[in-house]
Amino acid sequence: MKGLTILGSTGSIGISTLDVVSRHPDQYQVVALTANRDVEGLLNQCERFQPKIAVMGDPHCADQLAKGLNQRGLAIEVLSGLRGLEIAAAMPQAHYVMAAIVGAAGLLPALAAVRAGKRLLLANKEALVVAGDLFMQEVKAHNALVLPIDSEHNAVFQCMPEDYQGNLMQSGVKRILLTASGGPFRETPVETLHDVTPDQACAHPNWEMGRKISVDSATMMNKGLEVIEAHWLFQAGADKIEVVLHPQSVIHSMVEYEDGSVLAQLGQPDMRTPIAHALAWPNRIQSGVESLDLFQIGRLDFEPPDPQRFPCLGLAYQAIQSGGTASAVLNAANEVAVDAFLNQRLGFTGIAEVVEETMQRQPVDQVKDLESLLEADRKARTMAEQVVQKRVSSCGIS
Ligand code: NAD
Ligand code: MG
Repeated sequence: MKGLTILGSTGSIGISTLDVVSRHPDQYQVVALTANRDVEGLLNQCERFQPKIAVMGDPHCADQLAKGLNQRGLAIEVLSGLRGLEIAAAMPQAHYVMAAIVGAAGLLPALAAVRAGKRLLLANKEALVVAGDLFMQEVKAHNALVLPIDSEHNAVFQCMPEDYQGNLMQSGVKRILLTASGGPFRETPVETLHDVTPDQACAHPNWEMGRKISVDSATMMNKGLEVIEAHWLFQAGADKIEVVLHPQSVIHSMVEYEDGSVLAQLGQPDMRTPIAHALAWPNRIQSGVESLDLFQIGRLDFEPPDPQRFPCLGLAYQAIQSGGTASAVLNAANEVAVDAFLNQRLGFTGIAEVVEETMQRQPVDQVKDLESLLEADRKARTMAEQVVQKRVSSCGIS
């Protein structure tokens, strides 16, 4: 029986994780669940899965949770804030930790799990975008194990040699091919993109996800973040990672070897597959995902991404080239811009513009320690907010 903490259990990945776990009650026991503000959602999950600890990220919500648990007669310890999340991530009963908080807010809790030497199921790609180098050093230092949940990285992991030690050349790997659906606006005329709404941006053709990552998929910043994520996870230079548009989302990514072989992982676009893979690795368990019907799919298409349509992808490659704090700045500016878009303070095409301007205005610093990254993140948020504000005051929604 493996104990499991789920950070961000009320979100899209959290719910899919509980779905997989509930199919194997003899193998996994949920020991901690966490949410930010969704008290009702967490209460219902606590009732069903009876964890030892429940955490509200937002301390104001913790009292409500404690009251609700009391009313339902559930003796579950309630914690709150960053400290509570870190305790849930590092608790001795948790053998495995699912990191499924969205955004840079997930970095410190994920790092707490790493420092406690856990098996980390990493969905929270922003943690690696902000602090990839340091994060991977900590993984090594504490003998932790990171298994990627992001479908592309999970696919790459499945296609890599089993004993992969972080050296592409030694393993005969020529390049990593990350597939991308192109999101809902792959064929929308570029000149009309300025006017698309948050609901249109969140209507992903193949995947059902949280709103932030859905917008990231529409701008393809998601793929940019994933290039950075792959760079750190597999120790691959940016020139070894290529993005391939593949609208059907059936191939989740590929690895090309020196001998010309290209290995691909295919499946339904359903996150329960990578979640089940990482939970059971190196074994396999049922995930509840339907078989792939290749006859129904019929064909698989590929095309290169259009840099004019998807400028965020280029910004992410640029951040890798710049090194230092550049990726942390890219990520923070993107979080601010996406939030402004979702709250209808910024137009869709403004997202890339805000990120680019923030990157231009904030000098790249060297990474001395974790604090220098957190400082770059804070500064970039303030800067990006100013950029958004300036645009709003000059022309309404910009
Ligand atoms: P979501 O918005 O559906 O859920 C986010 C979860 O994190 C919720 O439980 C929420 O309460 C919690 N949370 C949010 N802000 C928090 C904070 N400040 N402190 C503590 N908890 C907080 O997001 P999601 O779609 O499940 O995505 C989660 C992560 O997984 C993201 O990093 C995303 O990029 C990654 N991911 C998601 C998918 C997907 O299919 N949804 C696929 C690949 C990767
Ligand atoms: Mg992905």
